[in-house]
Amino acid sequence: AAEVQDLRAAFPYFAAQPAPGTLAPAYLDSAATSQRPAAVLDAERRFLETSYAAVHRGTSGAVGEATMAFEGARAKVAAFVGAATPEQIVWAENATDALNIVTLGIGEANAGLGVAGSERFALGTGDEILITEAEHHANLIPWQRLAAKTGATLRFIPVNEHGTWSLDDARAALTERTRIFAFAHVSNVTGFVAPVAELVELARSVGAVTVLDACQSVPHIPVDFAALGVDFAAFSGHKMLGPNGIGVLYGTPEMLAALPPSRTGGSAITRVTMESAEFMPAPFKFEPGTQPVSQAVGLGAAVDFLSAVGMDRAAAREHELVERLVAGIEATPGLRLLGPAGTTNRIALASVSVEGLHAHDVGQYLDEQGVLVRVGHHCAQPLHRAFGIASSTRASVHLTTTEDEVDRFLDALRGAQRYFGVEVSA
Ligand code: PMP
Repeated sequence: AAEVQDLRAAFPYFAAQPAPGTLAPAYLDSAATSQRPAAVLDAERRFLETSYAAVHRGTSGAVGEATMAFEGARAKVAAFVGAATPEQIVWAENATDALNIVTLGIGEANAGLGVAGSERFALGTGDEILITEAEHHANLIPWQRLAAKTGATLRFIPVNEHGTWSLDDARAALTERTRIFAFAHVSNVTGFVAPVAELVELARSVGAVTVLDACQSVPHIPVDFAALGVDFAAFSGHKMLGPNGIGVLYGTPEMLAALPPSRTGGSAITRVTMESAEFMPAPFKFEPGTQPVSQAVGLGAAVDFLSAVGMDRAAAREHELVERLVAGIEATPGLRLLGPAGTTNRIALASVSVEGLHAHDVGQYLDEQGVLVRVGHHCAQPLHRAFGIASSTRASVHLTTTEDEVDRFLDALRGAQRYFGVEVSA
């Protein structure tokens, strides 16, 4: 407990005293976006105050210094997620953008704008793109569009009654025609952790390219993309204590070399004529235009912060919190926990449906109690449909979360049941 209080003291948001007559927020919405430690805010501000310049453009000492900070952040992120080289880290706006770099790039490859190696992304009638029914819309809609453009078929692994799926389900869904297999490492609705390494091996056996949505894993558990074997992975800075406006696409060197750029313009090129352009190698070919420089520096500081805490420690601490959260939900009549019972293969969060209440009523009541959560479909409408509900209430933890915050959430759910007069059979 002393430890978490020390950690919270490092965050201006948590250290702030609530205004008189108001409650301190119980911040349980890190899965949507996380609060930032002073070290991140300070790194960004210090960089802007002393070192800001147009990176990669020009020869001045100032540009050199800014470029070093920008590229240094890339190296930090690379080391944090197990990339062998910084060149495997492409800056994007967020995870959504990172996934779109992949889908739009594959679209370019299929529109005759490929580069050496792009044949591996060839898609046509009869080819299959495989995803799951549990995906965030960011890992669904871009694939829908790619399938529509190329004539490939978008298939999905259906979820079971718990809203999850298994290695066997993947084995049954993968075919000789599966060219791409994209799935979330951790579900943002159920917290379900997919067996990535085994899935990658399966996908390899049919020659499919793997794309991992790592939004909800990288902020919470140690993640090593090279060890997992994925071809591409995407995550966001703003869910891992870093700035918003920056996300990451990870790729293996061969995949990034073979993927054409889809957004083009200045900076990303070697030679341009009035008719054509030649592109720099990855990651730069994917980074046209002026980049989110201070955000990259801030993300580097967030990685330093997480590394100093230690991801193993963070994961262990968060596991205790999720156990408390899930146990409290399961002990309360009238609450339906989304996902399998218990905390096996679950990290970071729990979503509930309060029987007899709309999630927005629950959310409003929770807000009045100072409990900040996400209500709605969490950008996962198909998964909610599979559960037979339109929306749910999600509490998510991070390394700064306290037991008291979890208890306030549980108390507020019970309070909402009483307030709205929900009949629950104990
Ligand atoms: N995938 C998952 C699993 C997510 O939880 C989120 C964030 N809600 C995203 C993708 C999209 O992230 P962003 O909004 O930062 O692009």
